[in-house]
Amino acid sequence: MSYVSGSPIDAYCMACKRDSNHVVLEAVGLQIRSVRCERCGAEDAYRAPRAKTKAALLEFAAQKKRTSSAPKPASRSRKASARTPRTIFAELTDGMDFDTALPYSAKNALNEGDLIRHPIFGIGIVTARTDFQKAKVVFETSERVMVCNRQ
Ligand SMILES: [Zn+2]
Repeated sequence: MSYVSGSPIDAYCMACKRDSNHVVLEAVGLQIRSVRCERCGAEDAYRAPRAKTKAALLEFAAQKKRTSSAPKPASRSRKASARTPRTIFAELTDGMDFDTALPYSAKNALNEGDLIRHPIFGIGIVTARTDFQKAKVVFETSERVMVCNRQ
């Protein structure tokens, strides 16, 4: 739809400082160049009604809030039920004396329940031997398969 001079249009009036009925003075196609306020008679550039703009902004904000808050409950519940290496490590090493941890070496045997000290990963506890030369170790921030019994 295009506007022609004399068409009525809702617009924001800078003089009235409110939305009011206006008349299009000059329009080029879809673009309204100037309008006249029917309330106070002021002629000015066309400004979209604030009510509509505000409603659109509120709707946009509401949508944004909905979409950004939607995944949160899911991630919260996932986090609450998830067993992270940190929680597993804390459970497994509860009451253990980290001073007894043996320095990790690929040459050593690793047996379930052994406490080891790795130069990079820190204190770890062996949770399972997966084969003769591999063992699962839970460190404070990660779970890893470590080699052992290498000659
Ligand atoms: Zn006005």
